[in-house]
Amino acid sequence: MARRLDGKAAAEAIHEQLSAQLTRLRTQGVVLKLVVVLVGEDAASASYVRGKQRTAEKIGLAGEVIRLPEDVTQAQLLSIIDKLNADPEVDGILVQLPLPPHLQATEIIERISPAKDVDGFHPMNVGRTAIGMDAVWPCTPKGIVNMLHREGISIRGRHAVVVGRSNIVGKPMAALLLQEDATVTVCHSKTVDLASYTRQADILVVAVGRAHLIGRHHVKPGVVVVDVGMNRLDGRLVGDVHFDEVEPIADAITPVPGGVGPLTVATLMQNTVQLGLVRRGLKEAW
Ligand code: NDP
Repeated sequence: MARRLDGKAAAEAIHEQLSAQLTRLRTQGVVLKLVVVLVGEDAASASYVRGKQRTAEKIGLAGEVIRLPEDVTQAQLLSIIDKLNADPEVDGILVQLPLPPHLQATEIIERISPAKDVDGFHPMNVGRTAIGMDAVWPCTPKGIVNMLHREGISIRGRHAVVVGRSNIVGKPMAALLLQEDATVTVCHSKTVDLASYTRQADILVVAVGRAHLIGRHHVKPGVVVVDVGMNRLDGRLVGDVHFDEVEPIADAITPVPGGVGPLTVATLMQNTVQLGLVRRGLKEAW
């Protein structure tokens, strides 16, 4: 039976640490602020934003959600980001993705000041992380690597297989694992014979968005499995990994829900505090 990697507990520990830090800052008159921009009425996005807002409030960040109608124009959204960039009270800006198709997400992300880019999606942060400079790492991969460290799971020299190559999870996950000295293989929708790669994995990270894509035939005994996927199946939230099939074979595994999701939100809060402290001159760069 695999050890369960409890993302919820790990997230709680991060929240407590940040909360203590933010309480100390408040006594010095410093209140850090995270602004989330939500466009349209997508139910999943609205639910993620509520979760982020709740967590921000719980740990003592000032949180604001700017809700914009589905038909907001590119120019209107860019102008809101310009105002947030210029506002000295705002430490972190996050535009909830995905955006409606008429908006160009890449231009919008590029408009966010890299110094307030809590998601770590700005090309400047992506480039800096790719060449190993200090920068904001995207929340999901950073949260996963920190969790593996905390759980005493070694990465160096091990074969990490990442399934999925999106800009927000798969690619930065592969880059971070490489930086941690893993040997990294990246699979995607055009990969032929996926199982032949995933079966070689010592550490398997799956970020696809297809319920139960990975089953018992995709893993070898002793693998560490990190399931990023979040899918609705028969009214339940399930991952990309068939938990019941893989758990008996794996050494450790993240559940869905209660695994990577809470860690991602906790890491977002860490990034906000980190960027706020650096921007306000309360901490030297990373
Ligand atoms: P994207 O849709 O942007 O990317 C999916 C990736 O999976 C693509 O690279 C695609 O390949 C690949 N893929 C699709 N089908 C297959 C297949 N059959 N075999 C192998 N690879 C395949 O998704 P995201 O990266 O944004 O998110 C992935 C999942 O993670 C989603 O369920 C999302 O909800 C979840 N998520 C969870 C988070 C959390 O905090 N827990 C945070 C972010 C995302 P190709 O590039 O060739 O198209």
